[in-house]
Amino acid sequence: MKIPFVDLTAQYKSIKGEIDAAISEVISKSAFIGGPHVKSFEAAFAEFCNVKYCVGLGNGTDALSIALKTLGIGKGDEVITTALSFIATSEAITMTGAKVVFVDINPETYNIDVAKIEEKISSNTKVIIPVHLYGQPADMDPILKIATKHDLKVVEDAAQAHGAVYKGRQIGSIGDMACFSFYPGKNLGAYGDAGAIVTNDEDLAVKARMIANHGRINKYNHEIEGVNSRLDGLQGAILEVKLRRLPDWTESRRKNAYLYNEYLNNTELITPTEIDNVKAVYHLYVVRVKKDQRKELQEDLKSKAISTGIHYPIALPNLKAYEYLNHTEDDFPEATQASREILSLPIFPELQQSQIEYITETIKERGRNNFPK
Ligand SMILES: *Cc1c(COP(=O)(O)O)cnc(C)c1O
Repeated sequence: MKIPFVDLTAQYKSIKGEIDAAISEVISKSAFIGGPHVKSFEAAFAEFCNVKYCVGLGNGTDALSIALKTLGIGKGDEVITTALSFIATSEAITMTGAKVVFVDINPETYNIDVAKIEEKISSNTKVIIPVHLYGQPADMDPILKIATKHDLKVVEDAAQAHGAVYKGRQIGSIGDMACFSFYPGKNLGAYGDAGAIVTNDEDLAVKARMIANHGRINKYNHEIEGVNSRLDGLQGAILEVKLRRLPDWTESRRKNAYLYNEYLNNTELITPTEIDNVKAVYHLYVVRVKKDQRKELQEDLKSKAISTGIHYPIALPNLKAYEYLNHTEDDFPEATQASREILSLPIFPELQQSQIEYITETIKERGRNNFPK
């Protein structure tokens, strides 16, 4: 049984009629940049996130750097973020001219360890970027408390967490601003690159939109220099169709995650933990395997045509790109260890129970042979 890591074709087939009609409409109206489809998607996504404003952008990385620029972040400033994420999170900080300051992770949730944030705060610190990694909400209450105490802003990296909920609050509505990616493989994915910033602050929304559109207030009147990072009409129309299905897809992801948890109970693998009172949306389903077993298990699954991934194999501070920060692996022991033990199993909405049975049986079969108790 061949099991891909994600199956975007299966998803497209299930909504083909609506998607094709939406695409035709954009083309027939030549509404390629901005226009009614972008506007109505922005309104729908703001409502979905329970915020007042949504600014559609070219991609999630730009959403992060534009959010930081909107907050006035630049050279001389420091921005705190987690040691385990996709490089876009830290790249966006550097792009503004600010310095990236990493914090180790909580080994159970893989999110930023809130107990280790304060020791990294200096007089130059301006922003904390928690990442809701794998669709698991970061522990926002202590983060907000620290931010208030030290007069910092909070920008959520919600690129993996569309629709997640933290203690009754929608992810995206908790920080000063939140950034989403609609990269095709994300829980809400476009058919190309796309992203957005959401916020409840009108001034921030207006400024972010201005920066994303060459710093203009109208056609050739530029108050500042900005960038070109706009959500295009085709993506807006596609995203609006897909947003209507997102709650169902999220439920399928969650159901699949809980099936995995059940089937992998009593194995050597450590399954994901949700902190109290959250709704995780399982962008990824990540288990932990003892380091020296991971490669073999991954190859075993591959030989049975089951695709897996590692998110991420090198913790951010250990990347060559951050050599200049002179960190050692001992500075971030939890992120470093996690990066050697984590394995992402397929978890897309269309994944069938029988496929999860097959995957977990394959894992257990291997366990019977190779993981002596
Ligand atoms: C995907 C992702 C991004 C970047 O989004 P793009 O749309 O690919 O630029 C940022 N942060 C995290 C955690 C991501 O997973």
